[in-house]
Order: sequence, then structure tokens, then C-alpha cells
Amino acid sequence: MEEPDFELLSDYYSMLERQGPGSPETTLKALSFVEGHDSIVRIADIGCGTGAHTLLLAEHLPGSQVTALDFLPAFIDQLSANAAQAGLQDRVKGITGNMEALPFEPDSLDLIWSEGAIYNIGFERGIREWRPLLRAGGYLAVSEITWLTQERPAGLQDYWAAAYPEINTASVKIAQMEAAGYTPKAAFVLPENCWTDHYYSPQVAVREAFLEKHPGNPAVKAFIENDRAEADLYERFKPYYGYVFYIGQKV
Ligand code: SAH
Repeated sequence: MEEPDFELLSDYYSMLERQGPGSPETTLKALSFVEGHDSIVRIADIGCGTGAHTLLLAEHLPGSQVTALDFLPAFIDQLSANAAQAGLQDRVKGITGNMEALPFEPDSLDLIWSEGAIYNIGFERGIREWRPLLRAGGYLAVSEITWLTQERPAGLQDYWAAAYPEINTASVKIAQMEAAGYTPKAAFVLPENCWTDHYYSPQVAVREAFLEKHPGNPAVKAFIENDRAEADLYERFKPYYGYVFYIGQKV
């Protein structure tokens, strides 16, 4: 696969509040399955993007210190500006880094959060490699693209086999969590509005603005077309796939 154009990506997605499907309600619902909020102090939010959910976590866990990590410096700059604006700069620290080599000590985290991002390392590898960073009894909360049915149209299967071969059903993902040393506490399918109202709909206007900003640029045109195709695919096939939030506790 061709290397993505990171500047293009960060420029486009910085114009959006979220860089993946999700919503404030969903973030808070996932957080509701994490018990003992008073003992959840050290949090890492991995692949945080511009961090809409990062700030929400910090607001709802007033004693916490959140380290939000992402690959793209432009996202971290935006997150830090948003944190400052919300008066959360003392408790939310944005850092650029790679989820494949996280800068945390073993047993040093009470909660690992990751929305719409673990696919970059792969679900199974991510949950295994991040586990040692959690203290015993610490929580993992990740959202991940998931098949919602046992069977699905061949074209759709082929699309995802190419885009993300690790896509699977929730029962398989939960079994992977158990095998990796987590007790599954909850798993729920993100409602459709996480994709539509909170992710694809805001992109309609952003796409137009982006095309205007880069007139006649073939890479931008191709990027936008690909993005549109992904939204169309969701509209056509949404009974078959979605995001599932998985919440587990380190055994
Ligand atoms: N959690 C955000 C962003 C999801 S998009 C939200 O839900 O809105 C996925 C994010 O993962 C992007 O911000 C991308 O820059 C980041 N990412 C991709 N590969 C990464 C890596 N290897 N290490 C850290 N972050 C990565």
C-alpha cells in the first residue's frame, strides 16, 4: 500500500472535531463500565487525534492526569489548544508518539483509552503490548471496527479484507481480550449517529472547503473521493459492520 500523505491527512482531519466514529454519549457510556473512578488517576489516551474524548475524560474524572498521544503533531497542537481553552492544561498533556513504542513505565497506568485508533497497530497486538503498562485491576477501553453479523456480502468482505484484515465479530474480539489477560466488563455497539451525525455529516462541508483550498490537486481529489466512497459504503452496508467499544480489566 502507498504511504499516506500525512500532511494532507492532518490538514483535513484537523478541520473536524472527531477523526473517527464516536460521540460524547458513547465515551461516557464506556466510562460508566470503569469502576472506582476515584482510583482512576493515571490515564493514557492512545491515538487521541484532536482529543474530543480526551477532554471529556478529564472533565469527568476530576482527579485524573491524562496523557494523550498521537502520531501527528498537528493533532496534538490542536488538542493542547483545546485543553487550554477548557482550563484543563494542568491535567491533560498531549504528546507526539507512536502506539508501537509507548513511553510509559510498566504498571504505571490505571486506564488505557483508545477510540477508533487501535487498528493502526492491530487489535490483538495492541491489547497484548499495552497490557503490561496497566496496573493489576487497571482498565482498557478501546473501540474497534467489528462485524455485526456472522455472514455478509462478498464485496464488503473483500473491501475489509484489504483495508483491515483483522476485522472480526465481537465474540472473537472478546475471546482475544480474555486470552490476552483481561476480564471483559462490557462490549457495546456504537449507535449509528456516531458515524453519521458525529463523523460523516460534518465531513460534507469540510470536503468542499478542502477542495477549494487545494484547487486542481489530484492527490486531494483522490483522497476526497476515497473518503466519500467510505461513507457510501457505510450507508449501504451498516447492518453488517460498525464500531464496538470493548471494556476490559487487567487480571
Ligand atoms: N481517537 C480520535 C482519533 C481516531 S483516528 C477520535 O476518535 O476522534 C486514529 C488516530 O490514530 C489518528 O489521530 C492517527 O494520527 C493516530 N495514529 C495512527 N497511527 C498511529 C501510531 N502508530 N501511533 C500513534 N497514533 C497513531
